[in-house]
Amino acid sequence: MSNVDFELLRKYTAIPAPAERILARPERETSFDISIKISAEQVIHGDCFVVYYNTVRGPAKGGIRLAPDVTLEETRDLAERMVWKTALARIPFGGGKSGIRLDPRKLSRFEKTALIKEYVHLMALELSNGMYVPAPDMGTNATDMAVIFGELHIPECVTGKPPRVGGLPGRREATGRGVSHTALLTLRDVLKKKPSDARVAVQGFGNVGSYTALFLHEAGAKVVAVSDVNGGLQDPNGLDIPALFAYAQKNGSLDGAPGKKISNDDLLLLEVDVLAPCAKEDQIHGENAGKIRAAAIVEGANGPTTPEGDKILNKRKIFAVPDILTNAGGVIASYVEWRQAKSGAITAKEETFQVVEERIGIAFDDMVKLARAKKIPFRTACQVSAAEELVSSLVDRDWI
Ligand code: NAD
Repeated sequence: MSNVDFELLRKYTAIPAPAERILARPERETSFDISIKISAEQVIHGDCFVVYYNTVRGPAKGGIRLAPDVTLEETRDLAERMVWKTALARIPFGGGKSGIRLDPRKLSRFEKTALIKEYVHLMALELSNGMYVPAPDMGTNATDMAVIFGELHIPECVTGKPPRVGGLPGRREATGRGVSHTALLTLRDVLKKKPSDARVAVQGFGNVGSYTALFLHEAGAKVVAVSDVNGGLQDPNGLDIPALFAYAQKNGSLDGAPGKKISNDDLLLLEVDVLAPCAKEDQIHGENAGKIRAAAIVEGANGPTTPEGDKILNKRKIFAVPDILTNAGGVIASYVEWRQAKSGAITAKEETFQVVEERIGIAFDDMVKLARAKKIPFRTACQVSAAEELVSSLVDRDWI
């Protein structure tokens, strides 16, 4: 049921049996039906899943996914990842997730608002007492979070709100900021290279990929290739990332942008210092991992490397900084937004970035130290670090 290989982790750290029992399965799962009557003739129904995977370190934190194919299993998987991500970043949250099985493209804004209001109605108690703190995920956005806030009038009950209504300056950029910071730390501490001597390729040019490319460009790195779902562009001397960023913002994608084309498959195989897969899951797998020529991979997307791909990368000594560290910037910024809402303070964008970089920096140092001391891959080191934090928290709360 769990994504975590406890047998492997037990080789490197003590995980008492009761802790494993608790961490290897979700604390609570609920499934319910959301129905909204939108006209005299039509009722829209959506299956809804809410998983609190573990809350020993704080409220269940995780987004609301709205997609036509979302399942309880997928919701559970995503909730579990949040447990390990928040523990690794040492922010006071547990892991949770919601999934609503409906196609957001088939809902008008009016219908979507009605749906979110009904979700709040059904979840009112848990959202009001702070047990679960949602955020946007695939298919939901800042406006949906503003609707949740508007229903309950509790600023800290939800994150990812628009900045004017309690949201956080820098939240939009935060995940890419964290990915680029992870890439810069990898260059400095692992590859021993200056950003100005580094070549980077970024797959995916949505929220995460476009800001990752922009921040790395600003730090002086040569971003030699970027792509989105329909393919990408390359330039061995470095692409004009601000121009491509502006193009994608205006046109919604890289389609039609001038430059030398490259396919997504070829982008992954470029000889670069850092490859940042920032698009979707399962991009580096058994078929292509043997041909990857990057010195290091920083996983901006969730789960971009399959277990088979990971084994090959480890064998080939390609450093892979895992998603639970690399893309933690989003949830770290959510923590800052939650803290701002609780305190009433006003936060500047620079402060958001500073907290993201500080939390990721601490986790990165721990990862490198553990990996070197125990001679284990970065992914295992991150899981060991998070496991130690979770086990200690279970002890602190007298759960074990
Ligand atoms: P997004 O929808 O804004 O962007 C996704 C990008 O990937 C788009 O450019 C799309 O064209 C491209 N893409 C889709 N399929 C592709 C394919 N087969 N090959 C190449 N490119 C492809 O999404 P996002 O918010 O940037 O999220 C990207 C990844 O990062 C996801 O795995 C998401 O779960 C993860 N993530 C996002 C955040 C966040 O704050 N947005 C936080 C943590 C993790």
